[in-house]
Amino acid sequence: MGLTAASFLPEILLAKEITNENYTMANNNSYTLKNVLLETGFKYDNQHITSTETALYTIDIADGKIANIYRNQPEKDCIDAKGLLMLPSFRDMHIHLDKTIYADKWQAVNRKGGGIKGMIALEQQIIPELLKNSTYKAEKLIELLQANGSSFARSHVNIEPTSKLDSLKHLERALEHKKDSFDAELVIFPQHGLYYTDSLPYMKEAAKMNIDFIGGLDPTSVDGALEKTMDTTIQLALDNNKGIDIHLHETGESGLKTIEYLIAKVNENPTLKGKTFVSHSFVLGKLDNYQLENIAIQLANAQIGIISTVPIGKLIMPIPTLMNHGVHVMTGNDSIVDHWNTMGTGSVLQKANLAAQLYNQVSEFELSRLLKLATAGPIPLDDLGNQQWPKIGDKADIVLIDASCSAEAVSRISPIRSLIHQGNIIY
Ligand SMILES: [Zn+2]
Repeated sequence: MGLTAASFLPEILLAKEITNENYTMANNNSYTLKNVLLETGFKYDNQHITSTETALYTIDIADGKIANIYRNQPEKDCIDAKGLLMLPSFRDMHIHLDKTIYADKWQAVNRKGGGIKGMIALEQQIIPELLKNSTYKAEKLIELLQANGSSFARSHVNIEPTSKLDSLKHLERALEHKKDSFDAELVIFPQHGLYYTDSLPYMKEAAKMNIDFIGGLDPTSVDGALEKTMDTTIQLALDNNKGIDIHLHETGESGLKTIEYLIAKVNENPTLKGKTFVSHSFVLGKLDNYQLENIAIQLANAQIGIISTVPIGKLIMPIPTLMNHGVHVMTGNDSIVDHWNTMGTGSVLQKANLAAQLYNQVSEFELSRLLKLATAGPIPLDDLGNQQWPKIGDKADIVLIDASCSAEAVSRISPIRSLIHQGNIIY
């Protein structure tokens, strides 16, 4: 089937400047980009990195992959990237595409108190209404992410007695509509407590569907049953060959115990290594240095990742310490605009910028490293300045950004001019 850019071009992006040439070329999955700026190394003054070296290249894209990278050929008749910097496309690793009021009527957060259980009661009341047009809103949210350079998301999706499997089914429909331009992995999320409400039967059913991770929520403060809830969650993952990604907001002793319990269980079941994650894990922001270093080493050894929205306020997450110990830290917007929070921008590059400000990562080198938060991993240069992305054969998941280097992109939240998803030019 021939893909056309126009058929999946989000409305929100139509205002962007798109040349006729791009339209024509996007009809074909094989094309060439010239005048593409790539990072090639660091410039040093003695041992100190002062700036990033770059050069222009011409790049062939074929069958969704980077087929060739060669010396720039400005005279070639092909798509002109006009000197824009090529970076790996971004990935929002924690979002709730299934329950949002984005593209719907504005409503400020209206908490009625009662903490997390109060929010569960609120959801039980509003979810039937939210579900009525949740497919449409998820598609609009995906378009917002794309406009901000993301063509991939890890979305949590409510599984509880109010939604039953409807949140999941509605989101699957949206993802099907967007399948040529956007990919997602799904976490089935017992938002109302695995046992606090009777969510387990629905979780068991959803675990057999086309999903990637078993989710969870505050096993002590919501279910009052740390071990029982964690054991069930872990067993669901093992039985269905899925990963784990739990929401953990608990900041006290129970939060730390939950992380320690999860580390022990992952070490007992090594198939879970590399596919187990704790979202938020605010308790890590409450530990003293000794405790933190100790737990960071254990998390890295068990290959358990941490997903943080890079919170600001009283609690500062120890993201640099975790990264320095080799813990895979990723970020996401979580809420864009919904009953939990209305401040989401849709940009994970903005999250990397926020981290740079919070942790005073202002040098060329430090800023360039934080691009990892936006891409969920790959960045053009390794710590020694060797080029490690793009390589021939890499998936053509690309943004073209109006910046001279990664450090500038993070510092300035530079504008995204083009998004390419598996070779398809989205805009
Ligand atoms: Zn969340």
